[in-house]
Amino acid sequence: MRISFHGAAHGVTGSCHLLDTGSARVLVDCGLFQGSRALKEENGEPFGFEPASLDAVVLTHAHLDHVGRLPRLVKEGFKGPIYATGATQELAKLVLLDSARLQEEDASRAQRRRSKGKTVEGLDEEVLITEEDVAAACAQFAAPVPYHTELELAPGLRLSLSDAGHILGSCSLLFQIAKAGSTARVVFSGDIGSPRHPVVRDPEPCPPADLVVMESTYGGRKHRSVVETAVEFYQVLSETLAGGGKVLVPTFALERAQEVLYGIREGLEHHRLPKGFRTFLDSPMAVTATEIFQRHRECFDEQTLRVLADRDPFLFEGLSFTRDRQASKAINEVQGGAVILAGNGMLSGGRARHHLERILPRPECALVFVGYAANGTPARRLIDGEKTLRVFGQELPVNCRIATINGFSGHGDHDQLLQWHAGSGQPALTAIVHGDPKASQALRQELEGRGFKCAWPELHETIEF
Ligand code: ZN
Repeated sequence: MRISFHGAAHGVTGSCHLLDTGSARVLVDCGLFQGSRALKEENGEPFGFEPASLDAVVLTHAHLDHVGRLPRLVKEGFKGPIYATGATQELAKLVLLDSARLQEEDASRAQRRRSKGKTVEGLDEEVLITEEDVAAACAQFAAPVPYHTELELAPGLRLSLSDAGHILGSCSLLFQIAKAGSTARVVFSGDIGSPRHPVVRDPEPCPPADLVVMESTYGGRKHRSVVETAVEFYQVLSETLAGGGKVLVPTFALERAQEVLYGIREGLEHHRLPKGFRTFLDSPMAVTATEIFQRHRECFDEQTLRVLADRDPFLFEGLSFTRDRQASKAINEVQGGAVILAGNGMLSGGRARHHLERILPRPECALVFVGYAANGTPARRLIDGEKTLRVFGQELPVNCRIATINGFSGHGDHDQLLQWHAGSGQPALTAIVHGDPKASQALRQELEGRGFKCAWPELHETIEF
């Protein structure tokens, strides 16, 4: 048996791992590389395997860095089934369509700017996938896979899913591979969520395993508690709104948008936020994603189900959804304090960039980061304290308040990753992926200190097992 790593190896994005049992070849995730330009160029590079040679693809969840290269995989010859939970299938389609549209918009904007002799910095000129490619890929989805149901992918190869508690529909994968009278158990963690997080259920521990491939996004780091996070979040919002400033919360439509809405509704209900301010969910995709959330109650935790019994967990007074561009532009005219949720979370694209011009230079405004910011992205540079930021060719001074509230994170922290890993028992090997080098090394050292054998595979490296 061999596993090769074709993304999220010595980095966070581009998840793509190939399990080859000798008789079947299954790809786990097929994500997009995100972040710096050099990293993004990887998206056009060869996969490191022949797409037509795969028997199946299994998805851990619908984030773009786990599904974004799927249309390319299909375009380049993959013809087999794609397995995922029902929620992941719906969300993946949405995420991929959005990605295709953004690429097409960026490319045509770059073309217009270039024809006028303007700079195209920050815009991607190349379109990797189109909406037709997305439709073709989604047509290969197999019937939705429920949690905890064994599925035979190939003779002697069974798959079952456990809840990873990361986003709606997210899962960890357990492959059971029968060979010569014994069964090997291989687990892929997917992205591991944070317990006690609102909306989705807590992550289940890793099932007993012989080999574990696990993420390490927050290795070596500790999150604030859910309670501390809420206090911090309500404080930034209350202070900024009281001073008449606007708060921009850059969010991926599926990454924290629903949790932030849930948090604002709770804050209003429990009088921890002032009344009367307006909130804009300035993302057509986040609006659709919220509707998908509402359809998949089977994924909610008990607290959310209780709220759902008499009202919508994501709706409150003063909230507007802005789908079209005109409505988005009109947000600029709103006087006084307001909260704007706009994509994307790393400020590397999307409508959030258009709001920066009015937020960054103003000391009364605030920029609140609630998700992960990869190295090389504008979000990371601002969090690291840069004093100016170039947006659409214009150098903007950073005078607004910058807050990072990491307790909203959909990823488990160092201790929570260890807690998850403890369920594996005594695996012969743990391969660490999906983390910046410092984070991966921190997790590796900790696990090795506890007597576990670890690997830290490089891009396109193969591990024999
Ligand atoms: Zn994720």
